[in-house]
Amino acid sequence: MEETTGHATERVTLARLPSGVEISTTVHRYDGRAAGPTVYVQAAQHGREINGTEVLRRVHDRLLDAELAGTVIAVPVANPVTFDRVSYTAPSPLDQVTPNMNRVWPGDADGSLHQRMAARLWEYVDGADAVVDLHTGSPNMLPHVVYAAGDADAQSLAAAFGTDLLLAEPAGEDAPEEWRKRGFDGKLRVAAAREGITAITPELAHNKQLIDEAVETGVTGLCNVLRSLDVLPGEPVENGAARQARNHSGSVDAEASGLFRVTADVAVGDRIADGTTVGTVYDPGTYEPLQTVRAGRDGVVYALTREATVQAGDRLVGIATVED
Ligand SMILES: [Zn+2]
Repeated sequence: MEETTGHATERVTLARLPSGVEISTTVHRYDGRAAGPTVYVQAAQHGREINGTEVLRRVHDRLLDAELAGTVIAVPVANPVTFDRVSYTAPSPLDQVTPNMNRVWPGDADGSLHQRMAARLWEYVDGADAVVDLHTGSPNMLPHVVYAAGDADAQSLAAAFGTDLLLAEPAGEDAPEEWRKRGFDGKLRVAAAREGITAITPELAHNKQLIDEAVETGVTGLCNVLRSLDVLPGEPVENGAARQARNHSGSVDAEASGLFRVTADVAVGDRIADGTTVGTVYDPGTYEPLQTVRAGRDGVVYALTREATVQAGDRLVGIATVED
């Protein structure tokens, strides 16, 4: 059977290590016979977040056989440096300026390692109509989609993608001071939105693992996005409860370093009331309690760390305020 979609891959050099070793990655391009928008989708810019890579492998077969309109550009391994280390950030000998690639967009061709890598990929982002940046949270995170609060196009793209929770993140002027301090204006989704590109960040849960349920949520979500943009035929299908929520200051952070013990019978996806005791941070040497961790609002628990060794400032619980 003749393929209905034109498909090509390109090996792209993102940057060069001190030894001269080139960091390169594979970029897929799918061209439909009919005209339509260009959608850029990438996975694993945080290298341990490999769910999205598997999502793209599964969607690949569907795109080859589909009546595609427009173009899909897919980068299954956006960050080979962190991918090989199964890590979130790059080691400091490689990039001590910008260890987190998702703080540097749109990048800088003359900058640090991550800035150069981002700048090269930005050549594909620039000119796209929509961006889907596939991420993966920990096993203790509810799959959700993040979009910029007040961006109606991004909100409807997030709703098309689905999952159980759609999180509106305040950006720019509306964002708290901390948002800028943490470099969140350098996220790919935020940088793309600044250029007028509709962008969403799905967080599929279960980093380092390929969990079928999370992967299939991503496959359905990405196909839904392509359907909603008329790149794929058909209408989006149901893909989770898609509760609308805000995550503005919705986290409870560690006030002290120590061991975090969860004492409440609470799991991600549960409703929680303001003031509920979630657990305790204690001194592992003296057993002295250092912090009683309480929910700071009513909402849905979308993240709850089970990695017990915590540093002051680490997020322990993420609570989203549901708007229903
Ligand atoms: Zn990530």
